[in-house]
Amino acid sequence: MRKTAESPLHASFEFGGLEVVALRDGYLDLPPSRLCFPDGLGPAPATVGGLLRLSVNAFLVDDGTRRVLVDTGASTSWHPTMGRLLDGLAEARVDRGSITDVAITHAHLDHLNGLVAPDGTDAFPALERVFLGAGDEGRLSENLARFRDRAVLVTGPLAVTPWMTALPTPGHTPGHTVYDVRSEAGHLLVWGDTVHVPSVQFARPEVTWELDADQDLARAARLELLARLAAPGHFVAGAHLDWPGIGRVEARDRGYALVTDPG
Ligand SMILES: [Zn+2]
Repeated sequence: MRKTAESPLHASFEFGGLEVVALRDGYLDLPPSRLCFPDGLGPAPATVGGLLRLSVNAFLVDDGTRRVLVDTGASTSWHPTMGRLLDGLAEARVDRGSITDVAITHAHLDHLNGLVAPDGTDAFPALERVFLGAGDEGRLSENLARFRDRAVLVTGPLAVTPWMTALPTPGHTPGHTVYDVRSEAGHLLVWGDTVHVPSVQFARPEVTWELDADQDLARAARLELLARLAAPGHFVAGAHLDWPGIGRVEARDRGYALVTDPG
């Protein structure tokens, strides 16, 4: 995993024969009280002005002929600190009209609503398929209802491409799904909202997030995925990991650490 370019709204990585482009939709500030410490103790989270600052990232994977975008940012659906995804694609010189497949990790605003461009039109005019975990499809309503006919619901391990597999990991939402990307360089797990607050939840993965639909299931998924990622040849890409959101996981003490320069 070698970084080949970085600009304010995108960073490109060579991952074997694939190119991975991290796209910065923006950020979201939320109160630290969203974190739930099981014993009331834990490391103090990193804050900006007393608030948790969650980077909001999406990831494009390109094999040279086919591109899959994982998550789409918030567009104009939430705080104005988000909604830059299409600017990031332009900065990376990726024609959004070339994107036919979008893989959604879960149907929250900051992941799904970028299917609609800020001007209300379709963000990806050639869109053919939207992968989405079964259980989250109810969010394809109102201005997103027009994508229902292209939704591919993920109910078990499912090949998105020969090099990307969707894996259900319910907890944060009923349909939360991660995407395992394989190349000769190893595995890259695009894991959506498995971790919201990297300054706390790598060292203490049992700390949960108030907005998890099922905190126990979300914690179990996080522990399982972290154990898998700590093996050699595994990399992680996270929607709310600090920009550019790609790194490697190492086991440390009773928890883990994120090494953010994957080398
Ligand atoms: Zn999120």
